[in-house]
Amino acid sequence: MHQLTDCQLIQSPDDQAAYTSAINENPANAGTTGRTRRKRSLFNYSKLWANGRTLKIAFLDNPPAAHKQKIIAAASQWLPYINLKFVFVDDEGDIRIATGNNDNSSMLGTDALLIHPDHPTMNLGVPPDHADFDVIVIHEFGHALGAMHEHQHPQANIPWDKPKVYAFYQNREMNPLSKTQVDRNLFATFDTLSAVHTAYDRKSVMHHPVPNSLTLGDWEVPINRRISKKDKRLMRLLYPK
Ligand SMILES: [Zn+2]
Repeated sequence: MHQLTDCQLIQSPDDQAAYTSAINENPANAGTTGRTRRKRSLFNYSKLWANGRTLKIAFLDNPPAAHKQKIIAAASQWLPYINLKFVFVDDEGDIRIATGNNDNSSMLGTDALLIHPDHPTMNLGVPPDHADFDVIVIHEFGHALGAMHEHQHPQANIPWDKPKVYAFYQNREMNPLSKTQVDRNLFATFDTLSAVHTAYDRKSVMHHPVPNSLTLGDWEVPINRRISKKDKRLMRLLYPK
């Protein structure tokens, strides 16, 4: 199951703790101007790291040096567009990578702070010789920086053939998904700073590929292998230099 479509973006189930953690890290995550006294919505905040900080990134299971280097090279493709530094370490990372599990997943931004320090916040099970290795690493690091799934942008309006999508994910042999999981991973939209600041972009590296067979009419998105113009613009907005 090393396809980008199997990526799991994980958010803390404890929304109050996630909110507190996000605001402690970066008060701008609240997303309000401070001029109104409107009750904050727990569903409308971001999980960005404090701008300008150094993120320590640890390898929990000590992969071979060449494997590490490939991960570092792919992840570092974000660096020109963000005001953060990456330091790769062997223990005590803010972001902790495991390569030994058979999945690709990441906590969303500061939700990583809620994970026990012995446990990974990102799984990169994709083997280094896989054709999509680089794009999967870039995509998971996009989540770790706080980026959502582009196919869930509120303006996406993807003409999903929903009954077919449910059936496809429920019936596949590897990693089947329930209706609820499909709703959460594919159809639910988000309402964070990313959505406010940038329009939907079907070329985003944060977009899952969408096969024509799962949409109505002639509509598909191929695998986007590169950080798009919009991805760059968004990261510059989220982490300005
Ligand atoms: Zn993803």
